[in-house]
Amino acid sequence: MAKNNLQLEKLTVPSSGDRIKISGSKVKASDNPIIVLIEGDGIGKTVNNILGITALAREVIDTAVEVAYAGERTIHWLKAYAGDTARKRYYPNLSDDEFKTMSAKDQRGVYLPSDTLKVVEYFSIGLKGPLTTPIGGGFKSINVYLRQYFDLYACVRPVRYFAGVPALNKNAVHFDMVVFRENLEDVYAGMEFEPGSDEARKLQKFLEKELGETFHHGWNYGLGIKLMSEQGSKQLIRRAIEYALDKGYKTVTLIHKGNIMKYTEGAFRKWGYELAKKEFSDQVIAEHDIKGTPPQGKVIINDRIADSMFYQIQTRPREYGVLACPNLNGDYLSDALAALVGGLGLAPGANIGDHCALFEATHGTAPKYTGKDVANPASIMLSGALMLDYIGWNKAAELIRSGITATITQAAQMAQLGKKPLPLTYDLARQYDGYTESDGAKASTFKDKVIQNMK
Ligand code: NAP
Repeated sequence: MAKNNLQLEKLTVPSSGDRIKISGSKVKASDNPIIVLIEGDGIGKTVNNILGITALAREVIDTAVEVAYAGERTIHWLKAYAGDTARKRYYPNLSDDEFKTMSAKDQRGVYLPSDTLKVVEYFSIGLKGPLTTPIGGGFKSINVYLRQYFDLYACVRPVRYFAGVPALNKNAVHFDMVVFRENLEDVYAGMEFEPGSDEARKLQKFLEKELGETFHHGWNYGLGIKLMSEQGSKQLIRRAIEYALDKGYKTVTLIHKGNIMKYTEGAFRKWGYELAKKEFSDQVIAEHDIKGTPPQGKVIINDRIADSMFYQIQTRPREYGVLACPNLNGDYLSDALAALVGGLGLAPGANIGDHCALFEATHGTAPKYTGKDVANPASIMLSGALMLDYIGWNKAAELIRSGITATITQAAQMAQLGKKPLPLTYDLARQYDGYTESDGAKASTFKDKVIQNMK
């Protein structure tokens, strides 16, 4: 289909620019790709001309591309809508009372129009701000729905230390890990049954009668199903191994609670080793197969029990590189890692599938900071850098990272001299000894410094 035949209701496709094509781990982008931009809600959106974090990130990304390629490459942004801004644009007169009477599917359409789904599907890549899930609606989180709709099975979250950040743990200076979190299965698959519902009672009865399971007589149970498939686990672990090989990481660690959940998390571990042996035997070796000195040039695949891993990331971070995790372990672990190196404001993320990819900050909409120009835009800027890496524009990606690093280094030097305000947002400024959140800068000032430091 040609880009002009998408039959969009309220979106305009840029007149120049090309579609990016993704097939598995192969990504093909021209020098003029079209990329979907969803500003998002809360701190993501621009309010009364105060730019939100997504618009600030866009400016940094465009500058990085301009500086790196001197006009030979340009991103053509296609602005699309989701969340509150979508409702405002597509259903400006819909009242809350009318909304409540709609089916869950129609409610979702209000916050996630088919226009947006069509352009993400067609153009394959998007940069997305955080989205609120309205409380009281009968539909799932839009974020979760997008991941499921586009089969974005790998949530990728690099966690590295930025020199100058007063990190909580002295070992944080050695952090350079990348979490690959399975994004669609596990207890997030949505198979949950409300306590007291017919479904919960039926399922309990089935488990008792047909499978011989026991429950406390007369107790009221909510039930959830933990789903982990061989195919879902292997596609995630394959991506993690490919990434380690491509980027030069020395280890891939399977994080699981297989000692307790043998047929789900234990199976994840088993499938990981199976896959490594079958598909990567010339490049990867299992830790338990190493006799003596590890062979040069091979990535080591090992596994760790999830709870011990929370301990080890604090005590022996140098031993780890790529971490392949089932959904719930990955969710907890990536936030814990981000906290240790300076908080969610510095943690980027990507949701990647075989045909589409969405890049987003790992934090949410932080609604109390909406329109105040104070929220840290670094996470979404760094997600933009990940996106540039993904399409092979590594020089521009590196410029964003070095611009942020230089800004933090300058702030750290100022903090040593007791100078105020620091050119960092409140969340980072308050981490320096003797500084509070009011010693930070506006988000737009931080953005200007990052841009200065890229030039
Ligand atoms: P949140 O939006 O991440 O905010 C929690 C706290 O984290 C903020 O109050 C702030 O803490 C800090 N924070 C988050 N982002 C920050 C930034 N860029 N700069 C500085 N500080 C930041 O989590 P939430 O309050 O639980 O969720 C709010 C909404 O976001 C919910 O509707 C949730 O569903 C949604 N959400 C969306 C996504 C997504 O779109 N992928 C992800 C998570 C949550 P302090 O005030 O202590 O500094």
